[in-house]
Amino acid sequence: MNMDSSTYPTGPVNTGQLVTSLERLRVENSFADLPREFYTFLQPQPLNNPQLLHANIELAALLGIDASVLSSPDFLQVVSGQKPLPGGRTLAAVYSGHQFGIWAGQLGDGRAHLLGEILTPEGPQELQLKGSGRTPYSRMGDGRAVLRSSVREYLASEAMAGLGIPTTRALAIVVSNDPVYRETVETAAIVARVAPSFVRFGSFEHWAGKPEQLRILTDYVINRFFPMARAGEAGEQNENQPVLRMLREVTARTARMVADWQTAGFCHGVMNTDNMSILGLTMDYGPYGFMDGFQANHICNHSDTHGRYAWNVQPAVAHWNLYRLGGVFLGLGLEEEALREALSSYENDFLKAYHDNLRRKFGFETWLKEDEDLLDSWWRLLHEQRADFTLAFRRLANVLTEPQPFLELFSNPEPARDWLQRYERRLQADDQPEAERRASMLRTNPLYILRNHLAQEAIEAASKGDVGEIETLLTLLRDPFTERPGFEYYAQAAPEWAERLEVSCSS
Ligand code: AMP
Ligand code: MG
Repeated sequence: MNMDSSTYPTGPVNTGQLVTSLERLRVENSFADLPREFYTFLQPQPLNNPQLLHANIELAALLGIDASVLSSPDFLQVVSGQKPLPGGRTLAAVYSGHQFGIWAGQLGDGRAHLLGEILTPEGPQELQLKGSGRTPYSRMGDGRAVLRSSVREYLASEAMAGLGIPTTRALAIVVSNDPVYRETVETAAIVARVAPSFVRFGSFEHWAGKPEQLRILTDYVINRFFPMARAGEAGEQNENQPVLRMLREVTARTARMVADWQTAGFCHGVMNTDNMSILGLTMDYGPYGFMDGFQANHICNHSDTHGRYAWNVQPAVAHWNLYRLGGVFLGLGLEEEALREALSSYENDFLKAYHDNLRRKFGFETWLKEDEDLLDSWWRLLHEQRADFTLAFRRLANVLTEPQPFLELFSNPEPARDWLQRYERRLQADDQPEAERRASMLRTNPLYILRNHLAQEAIEAASKGDVGEIETLLTLLRDPFTERPGFEYYAQAAPEWAERLEVSCSS
């Protein structure tokens, strides 16, 4: 079953020319057409004297918006929550979730507002503000987001897109002098995010005991995002078959997403079920981290004291989260056995995607059973010496002719040299021409990655009004595989001070 974005329902879309006014966008409100229990209509609480810090021209073009719109007062007013998206109905959605393994009950968009769904040739895209003020789901929160975490979200979503990893995107960042109180006083910001849907596992969990609403949400998601799950329904006895097919597809997408995280050295940091996209997109960037020196049990979130979301447990946690999602459908009368069945493909889906990614990263034509051993010793080698994740893979491409840059990544090069001998023998087993292998490895293993300290430097510059670092990082991260002269600084391993950077849930 292929359910890529090409299967989104077609309808009137913003095709052809880019619009030069937001008024001319085709906008719909399918989520707002759900019954009222699913959300609250309300307006954002605008920031004082908002300034556009940065806008994403590339993403705007995908949405059908001309670059000239991004500098218009209209655009600023919409992305700062001062005025609605023309044609859109602003709302905050309700959801629940498991946080750090514990049922947290009702959560919801506590600081986010959905402005509407822009119709694009790639399908509908929701435009959502984050940090746009309190909602009925804010609980103790202030409804705000700080500049630091907003810049991190903005950069990370574009970095993931550049790596080809499924992700929500970011259209713009707005800042203001309004103070926001975290561990210290920080600057307020709003990030405008884009995704086909922000529905989460937790959106379903919220209706666990309410079959009527659960059915409505499930039908909505299947009809809009998984229409192929209805294939073969005509003569079908069981009305729950499409639900099982959807679940199988969500399982497959989630497995592929996490495999991509693992092979990019990405740690999400807060894999709560309310942060898991039903579309298998990486979402809700908070205390995430791309690893510098490899540690299998690396914890990127300083608040995650027990390492629940460490790098090496991400695949298992995603499966656990899928079980929380699957369990909800018992309420629609689905059999436990059938639900287990639907989720059981996870391990295979994950390993297939994981090995396929690694096959390409190592430059092999096929993944052989014996490669498992080579891979184990690879992780051990990197882990024992905390070798740089990104550069270790990157420098494998030329390692046969230039071993030195690779060996320099290890304080004790002996074990690295031993590993290389095995790797060289393995490469000989493939028929692939050398130049071809090299070229494909350089297109698969990024040179640039969003290291914490680079994000930090961009944040510090941005808080002084200088977006130069954001620009530079976006340029490099949108195509992280192409080496650019003059940007050697961004291709280096992290400096020592980076180890002292702490990233926590506070955002
Ligand atoms: P997160 O950890 O960002 O995924 O958020 C978990 C829940 O807390 C979600 O319901 C958020 O909307 C809510 N939340 C987080 N920060 C705030 C805040 N500053 N104000 C209101 N709600 C928040
Ligand atoms: Mg969240």
